[in-house]
Amino acid sequence: MVPVVLYRDEALVLRTHKLGEADRIITFLTREHGKVRAVAKGVRRTSSRFGARLEPFMFVDVQLHVGRNLDIVTQAETVQPYARAIFADYGLYTAGAVMLETADRLVEAEREPSVQQFWLLAGALRALSEHAHAPGLVLDSYLLRALAVAGWAPTFSDCARCGEPGPHRAFSVAQGGTVCPRCRPPGSTAPAQETVDLLAALLSGDWAVADATDDRCRREANGIVAAYSQYHLERALRSLRMVDRTSPAAPASALTGPTAARPDGDSPAPSPAPPSATVPAAPSSISATEGALHGSHPNP
Ligand SMILES: [Zn+2]
Repeated sequence: MVPVVLYRDEALVLRTHKLGEADRIITFLTREHGKVRAVAKGVRRTSSRFGARLEPFMFVDVQLHVGRNLDIVTQAETVQPYARAIFADYGLYTAGAVMLETADRLVEAEREPSVQQFWLLAGALRALSEHAHAPGLVLDSYLLRALAVAGWAPTFSDCARCGEPGPHRAFSVAQGGTVCPRCRPPGSTAPAQETVDLLAALLSGDWAVADATDDRCRREANGIVAAYSQYHLERALRSLRMVDRTSPAAPASALTGPTAARPDGDSPAPSPAPPSATVPAAPSSISATEGALHGSHPNP
């Protein structure tokens, strides 16, 4: 007799893939077990006992049965239904999609606990779903902190290369932050001081400073965060192309985006190209079949 091995954990749903006629493979970021991929049987049937609980963005308490290859989801209870608010708002959705994909890439190995990444993502999804701050700021703060936890903390005052006390004018993605005139490599940028202050506030979580900034400052900060993230993730974040951070309102043509996905499809959400995105298009090394994030219709 093979013993039945069950375990419970809290988990955030990162993405889903179709499997067979009615099942899905769910990629979770769990609190105790790191990244886990597991099969949810019958989840695509309307009568599924899982309901909408295993959609991207959901925070669930799951019970899993250890399988030969993939584990099997045997129970799922909602802890926080973040997906409801996030799927209902295009700005939240596009920001959230980048977060899930970033977490998926930063936590590469399965079953290696990443407690800090788990709570960082849970906190960011909560802030998004509660409209606590502008979605672009929540996203940029999440990216800076997730990269910092992964070992790539940027500096926004002292020279990233020689440590000379700042403030310094130049910023170098490759050097990891602000650089003094002596260390400044070709190709560094010279962001406004308010932009550097905003970046520091986003990294430290100083929301009073971040919320008070204007759009021009946020755009510049966003460009730096996007470049910094892409550099350090090595593989570009495909979802960055979807995010229109240049205007506070969602573009009209994009309003049908997330909700227009087939209710039962696992294809990536449509990627409308923002007309004036500051984020460079990602030179994609990611195959089309990999990383499909969006699988389901919003919770009715
Ligand atoms: Zn220096």
